[in-house]
Amino acid sequence: MQIKRGIPVSPGVAIFTAFVMDAEDQPVPRRPVAMAKTGEEVDRLEKAVAASIVEIEGLTEQTASSLGEDLSKIFSFHIGMLNDPQLIGQIKTMVRTQRVSAEYSVYTVLRKLASTFAAHDSQLVRKTVTDVKDLERRILKHLIGSSREDLKNLKGSAIVVAHDLTPSQTAMLDKRKIKALVTDAGGRTSHTAILAHALGIPSIVGLEDVTSEVSTGDTIVVDGNRGIVVIDPDAAKLMEYRQEARQMAKHATMLRELKDKPAVTKDGTEITLYGNIEFPDEIHLALSNDAAGIGLYRTEFLYLASDVIPSEESQYESYVTAIQNLEGRPLTIRTLDLGADKVVEDLTPMSLWQERNPFLGCRSIRLCLQNLPLFKTQIRAILRASVEGPVKIMFPLISNIMELRQAKMILSDVKEDLEDQGIPYRDDIPVGMMIEVPSAALQALTFAHEVDFFSIGTNDLIQYTVAVDRSNERIANLYSAAHPAVITLIKEVIRASQRAKIDVSLCGEMASDPEFTMLLLGLGLRTFSITPPAIPEIKQIIRSVSIEQCRRVARKVSGFDSNREVLNYLKGEAGKIMPEVVGGRSIGY
Ligand code: PEP
Ligand code: MG
Repeated sequence: MQIKRGIPVSPGVAIFTAFVMDAEDQPVPRRPVAMAKTGEEVDRLEKAVAASIVEIEGLTEQTASSLGEDLSKIFSFHIGMLNDPQLIGQIKTMVRTQRVSAEYSVYTVLRKLASTFAAHDSQLVRKTVTDVKDLERRILKHLIGSSREDLKNLKGSAIVVAHDLTPSQTAMLDKRKIKALVTDAGGRTSHTAILAHALGIPSIVGLEDVTSEVSTGDTIVVDGNRGIVVIDPDAAKLMEYRQEARQMAKHATMLRELKDKPAVTKDGTEITLYGNIEFPDEIHLALSNDAAGIGLYRTEFLYLASDVIPSEESQYESYVTAIQNLEGRPLTIRTLDLGADKVVEDLTPMSLWQERNPFLGCRSIRLCLQNLPLFKTQIRAILRASVEGPVKIMFPLISNIMELRQAKMILSDVKEDLEDQGIPYRDDIPVGMMIEVPSAALQALTFAHEVDFFSIGTNDLIQYTVAVDRSNERIANLYSAAHPAVITLIKEVIRASQRAKIDVSLCGEMASDPEFTMLLLGLGLRTFSITPPAIPEIKQIIRSVSIEQCRRVARKVSGFDSNREVLNYLKGEAGKIMPEVVGGRSIGY
């Protein structure tokens, strides 16, 4: 049994077998194996080599019939290598003598061969480096048994173990089969983590080397409450976690009883709970959790989930579907927030993934303002859909007033175009902005005079305030919603919106974290936009407290000067109301 700790991003307990996904182009970590198991590793290697040969023979035939015999000969080199007893013998010897996994041995031996070839005098030999790398990928795919296709064809339930997943890969996971997700990389509010939370499956990121410790088929426990992964649990540990899983199921049943009950504090203050979504389909989940509408629709996922740039028509259809699914409840459509960790590799013209500092780069509104056709297409689709229901438009990552004015000007231009073409739209569509950059938070009062509403995006606001990349696991201990500077900024934004009499909500993950609910209520927040599975828990806290009690909490917090003090205190207060909110799971350390 082995225990590993990471960053918990979605609560719950899952006990299943692991499915390790291949991390193409990632170095394969050295995984030691017991002496007694080296024989099994060699067997795995032989099977993977045999499967690779069959696969290449198939490719040879296919190429011969479609492109001709000559071209099909390129594969004979691959087959020759796989049949080379010296090369395969070298890999087997490494497994046996160094007692390491077959994956690591294949990776090490073939990488060494590739670098020898790369340094060779003959150009002909140098050219074979790509063949060696191709071969390495092929054998590893069979060894790890985790191509994306295998995941799609998964028969039973499993826990996905990956180096990292992109947000779109995470969004595609089939929740009926994937019972938990754990990754080496990632931070508390990386978009992969946010999506895992939205899926409602226990998830842990930032485990650093979990892929080197776990093999497909191993039994693992994922404790998404504390951020613990137990590999190969012993009987006692299994019993302990089965018991906890039963308790969590009881807690979930209790939360389900809150269905249709209002989110109102003990002293009668009504709180609005909206849902955050990435796809219109998620609206059903939001509504089944009593969301009063959608406070954040991350429309960039239309792009992330598609191989082509979505047309105006397909965007329009998605927005209309969302509006119809909401049956009269409000929908806040955020304009494209692409860039940073949300890149679409196939949409090469954007070339975003080459940026040196992507979170400080051409992302979000900046990207839109530099790609007006892209931006205008989306705004047209939103405006056209706005006649179908209560839609609001929201601009992300605004960092200075000129940016906001420019975005609003483009909105006016598009309205004019629609007017000229006789296409209906809602002229009084509410216009809002995200407050997620400290400069915008500090200038909130100025901005408040030029928009109808604010939505505080703490996921980014935290990273820009404390200078910590939200997706970097190595510095995740510095990323904290409990940082007094972050709390001060939130307080000032809420105050500015109250003075200017505009709506303010908070849609970062902090709103979905029960440990911060009392503080946010005490600071004056009355609208939360939450990842749908977390709505019942937040509602329960709201229904158990009074505003006066929350104001006391906020006053007390304003006297603390470190994250640690703030968090310990908030954990204690939330724990009194909901003891099931176990440690380690909040957006802070
Ligand atoms: C945020 O930054 O808090 C936010 C809600 O936006 P995203 O997580 O999509 O960057
Ligand atoms: Mg953001």
